[in-house]
Amino acid sequence: MLGLQRRSGSTGELHRSARSHGLMARVRRLLGAREPAPDRYLARTLEEELELAGCPVCRLLARKELRGLEAMLWEQVTDPLTHRRLLASRGFCFEHTWALIPAGRLVHSHYGVAIILDRLLRDFLARAGAGGVEAARQWLRPDAPCPACEWNRAAEDTLLWALAWLGERDPGLVAEGPAALCRPHAAALIEYTAAERRPALERRILARQERALREGTAEERLLLLFGRRPHELPPRGVSCPACVRTRRSLVDDGSWQRSRLHAWVAWLDAPERVGEALGWEILNLNGRLGDPAPLRAPETPVAPLCLGHLRQLLVTTGSREPLRAAIEDLERLAEALEGFIASADYRFTGELTPAQRRSWRQVVARFAGETPGVGLHDLLPGSPGSQCE
Ligand SMILES: [Zn+2]
Ligand SMILES: [Zn+2]
Ligand SMILES: [Zn+2]
Repeated sequence: MLGLQRRSGSTGELHRSARSHGLMARVRRLLGAREPAPDRYLARTLEEELELAGCPVCRLLARKELRGLEAMLWEQVTDPLTHRRLLASRGFCFEHTWALIPAGRLVHSHYGVAIILDRLLRDFLARAGAGGVEAARQWLRPDAPCPACEWNRAAEDTLLWALAWLGERDPGLVAEGPAALCRPHAAALIEYTAAERRPALERRILARQERALREGTAEERLLLLFGRRPHELPPRGVSCPACVRTRRSLVDDGSWQRSRLHAWVAWLDAPERVGEALGWEILNLNGRLGDPAPLRAPETPVAPLCLGHLRQLLVTTGSREPLRAAIEDLERLAEALEGFIASADYRFTGELTPAQRRSWRQVVARFAGETPGVGLHDLLPGSPGSQCE
């Protein structure tokens, strides 16, 4: 009761419309039922989110994943248990490695990001340096899933279950408010709903989505069809040559539609072409055309591979040469990273070299990869493996 009662205090009253009072009363009435129900804090959170435009599940998940990463960077950077856990998963998946950048911003420092990835990088260099191709291949195959994906899956289950519980009792709550569930979450919600109530709920949600699609800009359509934009996308200046090729083909061969991450990276690179596929005239009308500049090729003649593409190369060729080149490149990076980390010490008085200043972003790019679907947590083409997202 506590959460809902607090909401009806005087300051809350001032800002609430008659419609949202009605919504709250409906949620409260539903929570009066005797069967297992979502806890009141969760119901209240969902109720607030249903009053805002966009997908409430996407928004709550986005907030939770960033908070989880932020807490880790704040409290657990040097914690041995966290290190062991991250060693087993070889860090994070594509999306969550890139998300370390905004999470680091939230704790006002990217040293934590550098320290976490530096430890993993040194472990890889030690193993691959001593054991060669076979040891490197083994290291590049994670023993555990991305921890942030695991937090997210658990949170997503709870949110969808609670939303389905509310939606089964009052379909208008999830299908008529300002909120519109994205396609993936709408489909998942239907799965959580009792079979006999599914057709009716599905009809109403689809009608709501169609309206949102008609009214939305190209970017809002992308959100609706694929789900939330990742916190951070790999920049257009790509360093891994294999990632450059894959990124170029995203829009050309239509593979941008493969997943939420593919869609958003393609949007970053070619908003006008993705917009065209989603309804060109809407994009134009809203003046939301993105920068049509072509993807920048790597600046150095022999560019370094991301770990995901290195893994692909080692699996397909088994040759020592690419590993030797990768180790040389990564050793240089580890050295620059060491200088960057040392500068966190308050006694540091020197000046960082450009390579040292760049190092923490570069190690993010090596671990995450710069195109979705090729990272250590994605399926290897033609062989069984683990997968996140
Ligand atoms: Zn969603
Ligand atoms: Zn992940
Ligand atoms: Zn790559």
